[in-house]
Amino acid sequence: MTVATQHKLLSFAEARHAVEEYAGTLAATDPELTNLLDGVGLVLAEDLTADRDFPPFPRATRDGYAVRAADVQSVLTQLHNVGSIKAGASTADSSVSVGTGECVEIMTGAPVPIGADAVVMVEYTQSSDDTVTANRGVQPGENIVSAGAEARRGNVMVPRGSRVHHAVVAIAAAVGRPELAVHRRPRVAVLATGDELVDINLPPGPNEIRNSNSYSLAAQVNNAGGEAMLLPVARDEADELALLLGKGLSADLLLLTGGVSMGKYDLVEEVLASLGAEFFFTGVAIQPGKPVVFGQVKLDGRTTPFFGLPGNPVSTMVTFQLFVRPVLDALGGSKPEPLPFAQAKLKEPFTTKTGLTRFLPARLGGTHENPEVEVVRWQGSGDLMAAAKANCYLVVPPDREKFEQGEAISVLPF
Ligand code: AMP
Ligand code: MG
Repeated sequence: MTVATQHKLLSFAEARHAVEEYAGTLAATDPELTNLLDGVGLVLAEDLTADRDFPPFPRATRDGYAVRAADVQSVLTQLHNVGSIKAGASTADSSVSVGTGECVEIMTGAPVPIGADAVVMVEYTQSSDDTVTANRGVQPGENIVSAGAEARRGNVMVPRGSRVHHAVVAIAAAVGRPELAVHRRPRVAVLATGDELVDINLPPGPNEIRNSNSYSLAAQVNNAGGEAMLLPVARDEADELALLLGKGLSADLLLLTGGVSMGKYDLVEEVLASLGAEFFFTGVAIQPGKPVVFGQVKLDGRTTPFFGLPGNPVSTMVTFQLFVRPVLDALGGSKPEPLPFAQAKLKEPFTTKTGLTRFLPARLGGTHENPEVEVVRWQGSGDLMAAAKANCYLVVPPDREKFEQGEAISVLPF
């Protein structure tokens, strides 16, 4: 068996940088058409352009009275009400015009009639019969969005490369697009390794455990816009591993879990090396997840990136979020996003050891004025319940031992 690659232990920042840089060299999957709602979570392969002006007409943003602002400069201005316009009013209705000293009752979303250049909110008026009294003045343009103020016909409203989320769906709907061109979901092969693992529909023996990592990874992959393909569990045996690895390399990305630590049966790196893998790093100074491996294999004229994620379930989850995401994003057609770190106050003091950047399962809560974070008690990186209770990781820098209650600290939401 070939000796595995030289060990390349990077800091968290170096490893993240390496991944982002590599991601920048990847080509995105081909575009395909999808139904609007099936495109959620995928990446636009086309610009969404305005098919008309947005808004298409000067739109009232409040219920009230359309007026000439020049008429309503002082309080208690009396106006003559000459009509009413509701949202969706036909052109005939909206051809009502507002002359000097006049007003027209108008509803939110309705087209502002000719002559008017402001809307007085109904809250600031009194009306009796055809006379409306405004209790305060208005500025020209107040409570009106003019035609084309948001976008002109032909303007790009959402550029290609954007991930489709609910607001992008709203724009697609608003420009009349029941179908979208998106990048095909990258296919991600998931290969769990370990003699102790059994599939979830088989009864485990007394010293066996169920393969949960393939499923948590598949959930993370699918959630991130990929399409997970689960391979059967590989025993800790080189030939079997090589065979399944070979299958996994036909995907756009290969994710392995387990078998990357320093144990006697941790064969993943050796077997990858025997297939000619190039390793970008074989460890990162983080906890959990230190043995994480990243590289690529060139085989039969194609290059497949791979990650060997440590088998401890929380390590697998953390390293996916920290390192796999940018590669998956790039394959799926989107620019890698920076990690969405935020800050919160520590609910309790804690002590740790220096040397590693730690990503500890934690709960972010509190209020908007006072976001607070609390570490979830755990039994180490095998503790599934800790991960399930958490909604973020507390990010502990490698150079500090003691943290006080109330101190601001970084968090990384899931
Ligand atoms: P390894 O990285 O192979 O040394 O595994 C580290 C720990 O994670 C061991 O306790 C394994 O039993 C556990 N483990 C490895 N793979 C899986 C998996 N697919 N599902 C659940 N636990 C796993
Ligand atoms: Mg193992």
